[in-house]
Amino acid sequence: MIQFYVPLNFLGMIYREIKQAMVDIEAMFTVLARDPEIKDAPGAPGLVVSGGTVRFEDVRFAYDPEREILKGVTFEVPAGRTVAIVGPSGAGKSTLSRLLFRFYDVSEGRITIDGQDIRQVTQDSLRAAIGMVPQDTVLFNDTIAYNIRYGRPGASDAEVEEAARLAQIDGFIRATPHGFRTEVGERGLKLSGGEKQRVAIARTILKAPPILVLDEATSALDSHTEREIQSALDRVSEGRTTLVIAHRLSTVVGADEILVLAEGRVAERGSHAALLAKGGLYAALWNRQREAESAQEKVRAAEEEL
Ligand code: ATP
Repeated sequence: MIQFYVPLNFLGMIYREIKQAMVDIEAMFTVLARDPEIKDAPGAPGLVVSGGTVRFEDVRFAYDPEREILKGVTFEVPAGRTVAIVGPSGAGKSTLSRLLFRFYDVSEGRITIDGQDIRQVTQDSLRAAIGMVPQDTVLFNDTIAYNIRYGRPGASDAEVEEAARLAQIDGFIRATPHGFRTEVGERGLKLSGGEKQRVAIARTILKAPPILVLDEATSALDSHTEREIQSALDRVSEGRTTLVIAHRLSTVVGADEILVLAEGRVAERGSHAALLAKGGLYAALWNRQREAESAQEKVRAAEEEL
């Protein structure tokens, strides 16, 4: 009997190690995606968040010194408000979120949270204050509950279920063979992009950070899924300082302020209505996207008729 026990125990240990390694893989990607030069300043204090006001002050940045991506960007996301960043592909929208996480340091200017330069506080405290709903969510090969609880490992079952409800994914979960205990990922149930994004939203609801970064999926979602995700996002961003990196314009209409990033600068800023009335870059982007969407709708309608 003992002979069996040992290998089983050993297998259990290996299993736990592999699972830990999976978690570490995500951490590793995070590490790889950033500049190894970035270190905490000696004796840096933790970030103290009061309201969570985020400010970019004349920020300049280049991944490669030959090619400056941000050429002096200034904006503020007041505590509890939502600012959306739009602009042509490659304009540097996602770069802003990488700088806010301090995966890279700005080359000039500064980024502050409640007046504290993010280079002067510990990276751990900075990242603990910011929740991210990324474009592509990595799911662990584990249960749905595990994947949601990752946002706050100490959360109770009831809290996990409540987060799923707020993220509007609980109906889907309950319809799966084992509910919250259904295995997902490579060997389990495969989730669609929209479902994975709602798992990420549920994770973020559990983490409950004062500052949120929503990096929208570039891939087109059907309009029903898009509406569901939008209402889940509206709920999670309520009362939190939110920066939306928008690749689709339909989701930015309700933002307090929209910034149009082009050629490394804020080319236009204002509300949706004001920017449309202005008839500039935003209006042009909006019209182009509307045309593309209505062409897509026509294709879909034609396909349905066949
Ligand atoms: P999209 O809407 O297409 O996602 P974006 O506005 O979010 O675009 P970013 O991802 O911020 O654009 O990239 C801005 C520019 O920086 C792009 O030209 C991109 O090629 C370049 N870039 C992004 N990441 C790196 C990197 N790690 N090293 C070098 N250049 C990079």
